[in-house]
Amino acid sequence: MRTIPPPPPAGPAGGLYVHVPFCVRKCRYCDFYSIEAPHPPAAFLEGLGAEIDLVSEGGRLFCDSVYFGGGTPSLLSPGAAARILDRLRRALPLDPGAEITLEVNPGTVDGRKLASFRAAGVNRLNLGVQSFRPEKLGFLGRIHGPQEAVRAFKEARNAGFAQVGVDLIYGLPGESRETWRADLEAALALGADHLSCYLLSIEPGTPLGRERAAGRIRAIAEEEAAELFLFTAEHLSARGFLHYEISNFARLAPGEGGACVSRHNRKYWTGAPYLGFGPAAHSYLPPRRFWNPPDLGRWLAALSSGTGPAAGVETLDRGQQVLEAVFLGLRTLWGVDLGDLRGRLGYDLVRRHAARLERYLESGLLRLEGERLFPTTRGMLVADRLAVELA
Ligand code: SF4
Repeated sequence: MRTIPPPPPAGPAGGLYVHVPFCVRKCRYCDFYSIEAPHPPAAFLEGLGAEIDLVSEGGRLFCDSVYFGGGTPSLLSPGAAARILDRLRRALPLDPGAEITLEVNPGTVDGRKLASFRAAGVNRLNLGVQSFRPEKLGFLGRIHGPQEAVRAFKEARNAGFAQVGVDLIYGLPGESRETWRADLEAALALGADHLSCYLLSIEPGTPLGRERAAGRIRAIAEEEAAELFLFTAEHLSARGFLHYEISNFARLAPGEGGACVSRHNRKYWTGAPYLGFGPAAHSYLPPRRFWNPPDLGRWLAALSSGTGPAAGVETLDRGQQVLEAVFLGLRTLWGVDLGDLRGRLGYDLVRRHAARLERYLESGLLRLEGERLFPTTRGMLVADRLAVELA
């Protein structure tokens, strides 16, 4: 079994998330908030600047990661990305060595644009490839083909990006272990540093959701999805990847530790603070969570009236904080810190759920080492249920 790296260093460093809710065309499975547009309009960029100044907590949150997500943030011009980064640096103390990630749709970039993003300060890319098979891409309604994804990856390397991740989707109707293996192999052959492998979720209200409701397509069975998940974990572990979160795998070269783990995404799973900007963005300043309306017009209207655009605020009580800590910990390789639960939240999980815990340890869903409770790969499959039962 691969050695588990030490827990991420505790500390107050936060993350910054910029949501760019524009896409060339909606994909057939997508239920994220995004608007079809060739590029982000000027009003959005002005709104972002105003929100950064307004919501930056008086510049108190030290941050060491920025993540441009979407939507399709690669529709930003590199100049606009540089100006957003400048604005963030002026409003908040941002580590000069911060990880700065951009999600890239392969159908929206060329080598020159990628090189300009690198010059603007972006140092990590996540390519939304989803599949290297034309029939899967067609089914999903992506705007790019496999060749564009391969080209974008190679151009990213040529542009000087040392960290390039690939996002893939599996579990389409009729997907077999062989078709999925071919996708994984194609990403590995390119030399991806990070892989995010998401099970297709067919949501109501999307074109795929309507096709399912009409009986034209059928989601794969739960057992098949579980089988593909276990296959993915096994296959990528054997190829030198660290399975550090249910859907996320980081290349682990000898001596690198967890070097390719996404610093930004790890914040979401370890309860670190983060601030989100843009329509539909979420923020977390423990124990307070707040979120923006998934609506460009409402977000802009709030900002132009000089008020914060948050559409909702929630302060987590002690029970919610326990659930959150267990729920997030059981999704990751770092597990749940039982000493922290006891000391910080007064929750003794072992004493409170001794019998249940024993059962899960015996059945191989969980593993206990000292003060840390880890999910096994099979445990990750049912992490949500385990968290509800143990929190
Ligand atoms: S590119 Fe991403 S955000 Fe945009 S429609 Fe497709 S899945 Fe949704």
